[in-house]
Amino acid sequence: MRVSHLHIPTLRQPPKDAEVVSHALLVRAGFIRKAAAGIYSYLPLAVRSLEKVKRIIREELEAAGAQEVLLPLIVPAELWKESARWDEYGPELLRVSDRKGGEFCVGPTHEEAVVDVVRRDVRSYKQLPVNLYQIQNKFRDEIRPRAGLMRGREFIMKDAYSFDADEAGAQVSYKAMFDAYVRIFQRIGLDFRPVEADSGNIGGSLSHEFQVLADSGEDRIVSSDGSDYAANVETVPLAAPTPAAFTAETAAYEVIDTPGTKSIESLCKLMKCSPADTIRAVAFNADGKPLLVMLRGDREVNDVKVKKAAGVAVLEIAEAAWFAKTTKLPVGYLGPIGDLGETRMLVDAEVLAMPAAICGANEKQRHIQGVVPARDLAGAEVMDLRMATDGDPSPDGGGTLRTHRGIEVGHVFYLGTKYSDSMKATFLDEAGKERPFEMGCYGIGVSRILSAAIEQGHDKRGISWPVAIAPYEVCVLSLAKDGEGAEIAQTLYEQLRAQKIETVLDDRDVRPGVKFNDADLVGWPIQLVVGRKATEGQIEVKIRHAGTRSDELLDGLVERVTAAVRTARDGSTVTL
Ligand code: ATP
Ligand code: MG
Repeated sequence: MRVSHLHIPTLRQPPKDAEVVSHALLVRAGFIRKAAAGIYSYLPLAVRSLEKVKRIIREELEAAGAQEVLLPLIVPAELWKESARWDEYGPELLRVSDRKGGEFCVGPTHEEAVVDVVRRDVRSYKQLPVNLYQIQNKFRDEIRPRAGLMRGREFIMKDAYSFDADEAGAQVSYKAMFDAYVRIFQRIGLDFRPVEADSGNIGGSLSHEFQVLADSGEDRIVSSDGSDYAANVETVPLAAPTPAAFTAETAAYEVIDTPGTKSIESLCKLMKCSPADTIRAVAFNADGKPLLVMLRGDREVNDVKVKKAAGVAVLEIAEAAWFAKTTKLPVGYLGPIGDLGETRMLVDAEVLAMPAAICGANEKQRHIQGVVPARDLAGAEVMDLRMATDGDPSPDGGGTLRTHRGIEVGHVFYLGTKYSDSMKATFLDEAGKERPFEMGCYGIGVSRILSAAIEQGHDKRGISWPVAIAPYEVCVLSLAKDGEGAEIAQTLYEQLRAQKIETVLDDRDVRPGVKFNDADLVGWPIQLVVGRKATEGQIEVKIRHAGTRSDELLDGLVERVTAAVRTARDGSTVTL
């Protein structure tokens, strides 16, 4: 293609709402335009990159035995009521009704829709296993859509669902998909890690996320420095440390005045102690009821663990005013000792290891010091509720955990019979007995992959695409308007295209500086600058990701570039 014919509306300025570089660059380089919060139009270059991502996904999934389907975007509410998710899913589910008042949702994920398809036609164990996937736009009314394609409300997902006769079969399907994901993300050219994960509100027991390592990632992951353990920080089980020892002589606690110390920071300043000497109370709204979680003051609460421990459907940090009104407790001075009324309290196990702690007295402007939790909190509900952090021991017993930031681009779950039970999806086994399908489900954030690739591949001039998903592989920049130089550029362009190298020719009537800037902004992996020396047989070659420029002989250049591109199509970086 000729750049003069392409719709690449590049901009000098990033959009005002861009918080991360990939969002700014996708807009500036003319890949996407915003229609509404979290809803985007994909322009031609984005579509080309997305199609490449989809092709890699399709090839690997077909090789793993999955078959492509296309389920309805608009899913009848009845199916979601069967699984109980119509009520459980909450405000992220976009509900719509038709002219007759029939209820539907815009699919945010398609377990119900696919179970309905399979339960109708798959009746015998002989038809199993079945693995169906689709690539489709999803809608989730995310509370905070952000970062362009990273967290959209409408986004493109690949979702797959496996159906097996028994658990052993489901494990085989899971493993096949896990391995296919590894190949997919390698072929795209991403630096990623599969990590153990929580299975969220989809349910199930075995789950891994594929995390692209990037500082701007929303997810925190940990990896062990002494083993290959890696997990989402949400899901890391932490062993209970040994409770602190005390004797009959250990002094009793005392209530003290601590005016103006609502925060841990102000308390530490007054008491000349560190947060690790204090107990923090975190107030939640758990299914509409107040819940208090006690942690060592330097620790962060893990809401996934709290949600499971409390056995609630909706868990949110409590609004201070609501909590104070409902419990009549003095927010800012909450602690584990004293009368909490109806409020349930959960204590993180590490608190019991504190030899002496300072905590809120449940009285305004007062704290308690000299608390020995192992002695003073007898009878409390104690469990693992804290977030893992740097320095925690690895749960597999090998090494110490380190934290990193990640962008979740894929997720594989072993679901078991959660949906087949609730939706009565059964088949006849060898003995002629009705059995529920054993399921797995597998997602890839197709549109999010563009953001993730840019977070990993960019510099201050713009995007640097991996060849495997670049909208075009080579750009020939023709600096001469006409004459021999322009002819050389034209020939290079045609010869590369004849080799099936995806090439664009920047033939626009603009200054060379504009061409250079746009080429780097859009991120063409290989740029061939046909300038003054071209007539002497010299072409300047720029390798985008390496940032190198070199003069190369025109003679043999097409062959060398062709070979370099072909090699890099498997997800590796380009070298000439
Ligand atoms: P997250 O924790 O990021 O909200 P999720 O657990 O809700 O993700 P899944 O339901 O597993 O996500 O969806 C499968 C994949 O779809 C995710 O791994 C992610 O890559 C992608 N995805 C999920 N939500 C969004 C979104 N709002 N915008 C873009 N991609 C998304
Ligand atoms: Mg989500």
